[in-house]
Parts: sequence; C-alpha cells; structure tokens
Amino acid sequence: MIIKMRKVVKFGGSSLASAEQFEKVGNIIHADKERKFVVPSAPGKRDADDTKVTDMLYGCYDLAEAGKDFKAQLQAIKVRYQEIIDGLALKISLEEEFKTIEKDFKAKAGRDYAASRGEYLNGIIMAAYLGFEFIDAAEVIRFKENGEFDSEVTNELMRERLTSLEAAVIPGFYGARADGTVKTFSRGGSDITGSIVARAVKADVYENWTDVSGILIADPRIIYKPEGIETVTYKELRELSYMGFNVLHEDAIFPVRREGIPINIRNTNAPEDEGTWIVESTCQKPKYVITGIAGKKGFCAVNIEKDSMNSEVGFGRKVLQVFEDNGISFEHVPSGIDTMTVFVHQDEFMHKEQKVVSGIHRLADPDTIEIEADLALIAVVGRGMKSTRGTAGRIFSALAHSNINVKMIDQGSSELNIIIGVANADFETAIKAIYDIFVLYQL
Ligand code: ASP
Repeated sequence: MIIKMRKVVKFGGSSLASAEQFEKVGNIIHADKERKFVVPSAPGKRDADDTKVTDMLYGCYDLAEAGKDFKAQLQAIKVRYQEIIDGLALKISLEEEFKTIEKDFKAKAGRDYAASRGEYLNGIIMAAYLGFEFIDAAEVIRFKENGEFDSEVTNELMRERLTSLEAAVIPGFYGARADGTVKTFSRGGSDITGSIVARAVKADVYENWTDVSGILIADPRIIYKPEGIETVTYKELRELSYMGFNVLHEDAIFPVRREGIPINIRNTNAPEDEGTWIVESTCQKPKYVITGIAGKKGFCAVNIEKDSMNSEVGFGRKVLQVFEDNGISFEHVPSGIDTMTVFVHQDEFMHKEQKVVSGIHRLADPDTIEIEADLALIAVVGRGMKSTRGTAGRIFSALAHSNINVKMIDQGSSELNIIIGVANADFETAIKAIYDIFVLYQL
C-alpha cells in the first residue's frame, strides 16, 4: 500500500505581496507534490512603507459606512491585485468581483466582510495560478450565532468538502455564520485557517510560510541576531506566545494539537532553511537548556501585608474576589508568611486602583497595601529545565552580575518556565544577561 503524504501550506501576507512573491510561492508548492492544500493570506506589505491590503479594505469600508465616497480607495486595492495578475500573466479578471464588493460596501455588509475580501480575492488568483480548485472559506468555516468559532461543525464541513479533492486553495482569515454572514478571526487569523485545514485532511505537516526562518530564541530588537529555535513543543510555544512571541497566531495551535500534527515555520525567501518545528512532544534534546525567553513590560504589583496572614483561612480568596469584582485578571500571586502580592496589567488596573485598595480593606482587613508600578515580567521557557539542576541559580547569578534586582520569582509546577519580575528599566538588560549565559556562553 502506498501511503499518500499530505501537507497543508499557509502563506502569510508578505509571501504574497507581489507577483514576484507569488512566483516564489509557486516554486515552493511545485517543489513538493505533497503540498496540496494551500491557505493564502491577503497581500501584505511590499516594503516597510507599504500598506497591507487588509488595512486598505478596513479604511475603504469605514468611508463606505460613513456614507462617504470610497471609489479611489477601492480602485487602489484593485490596482494591487491587477499588478499581481499581470505580473503572473494570468488570463483572469476580477472585474465582476469588484462590482459585487462595491455594491456590498454601499449596502454596508460589515467590516468583517470587507476585510475578508483580501484573502478571498488572493485565493482566486492563487487557485488560477496553481490550477487548483478554489473553495470559498465561507462555505467550510463556521461561526456560531454569538460569533464564536464552531470547531466541530467546521471540521465536518471541511472534511466532507476536501476528502474527494486532490488539491485546493482555501483563503485564510474568515468563515461565516449559518445564515451566510461573513465573520473573520482576529488579526493574523489565516494561521488558524491553515491549522483547521490541516486537522480536517489529517495532514502529516502544517507548513506555515512567512518571512523569517523560524522562531528566534529571543526578540531580535533586544538581542543582536539571536539564534533560531529548532524544535519547540506546543506547550512551550503557548508560554512564549502569551508573553509576547508573535510568529504564529495564539489560537493556531488548537486544531492541529487535537491530531498531533506538527507545524513547521518556514521562510518563503529562504526555502532551503529548515525553520522551526512545533511539536506535541519530542525525544530530541534541545540544543540549549532553555528554549526561549519572552517578556512584557507594564505590570503593577499590589503588595498586601497582614500579621499572621498564614493562619487566616480564606484571606487569599477575599483579596482575589476584589480583583474579580473589578473585572481585573491577575497574572501571578507570589506569597510569603505575612504577605501576598498580586501582579496585574498596569493599564487595566490603573483606573480602578483606588476601588481595589478600598475593596481589599473592606473585605480582607489587611494591615497595609502598597502598589509598585512599572514592572516587567520575563518568562524563561524550556522543557530542558526539568531535568537540569541549577537553572534558576544560573539565571539569578547572571542577573546579579548585571546589577539587576529581582522583584519576583515564580516557577510553574510543570518546571517548563520560570517567571521573573524586574523593573521596566531593567527589562532589556535582564533578557540579554539570560540569553548570554545560556546561549552565547552555553553554560
Ligand atoms: N490579512 C489578515 C491580517 O492582516 C489575516 C492574516 O494575514 O492572517 O491580519
């Protein structure tokens, strides 16, 4: 029996920004006959000063909704697509499609519908260019009435539609409710579409093609030319994404995770690079003890003190109740014998701080409450930490050598991550110190 391999390939906006980029994509697809299901984004930026077609569509639709003239803006979008069609010498016309879009904009069909046309039109071009069948995502990706993504109905619809097909193009980013109204995922959502398609066809790999050769160990704006990550687990990536890594949409993990399908992040402009593998689990030893370092600025610590807090049953619950009542989610809650600290996002907390302080006094009767602002949280993530002694020790001695005061430490029970709180002003230096000790000097 011959087992047919199937790969789902998703291409981001910068990979499809011009006819030249389309050609690179065509070469990548033709280089491997297993690349049969293609998910395109809308054309992205051609250079740093350019505008993404999705943003052009939002701008154009806002004019339409305000009852203003939007002809020039729609024409500019048409030109972007026509340049791609001409550059590829395709014999298709989007004239009728643009007439429909103009009509629908006048009828105020909605912002989601407007934005979705970016992927829809690019999908039509891609299907014509490759000679693959075009499938409108509105027919196979379903949202519930309340706007939530309906994963199970979608999986059925998508599976039924794709099983009999040899190859297809399914535009990213959008789907529709049962009544046909178009709904998009949040920005960057084509990553999710690729994952949904991979799950439905039980793909062997979900290749996500972008403009970088995989995920980097740390932010290149902080570390000069950081090394790339070869393999990262779904769980590690979730920790890193939560703390600011944004190579892949946060929700793109979920559909493939159900089937244990690996994701391979690749670079359209350097297809020979292996990129990063995102997998459920692996026996491959990570190159370094840590897999990645991520972090965010802008946190506040609310320090609460009360003598004999340790023996008072229900103290913590009462404190957290006040945050819940004020609609504030907390990040971490390190505690001591007579102290408890609640880490929150500064921008979320700022306007409600006095209500929270008085609320805690009323409900939990503490001795004192102190607020410390402008803090940063850094997550050091790595499956390799579990079996390695002294990781925390090395982190803290590196920080001490860089004269950084550590405000908070939190190690998850999975031993997958260590979270460190430092002053905003120390954020970059701290990341550099940790990167150097584990990667540069490989200690
Ligand atoms: N085009 C959409 C955006 O710019 C979706 C995507 O590219 O994934 O966010």
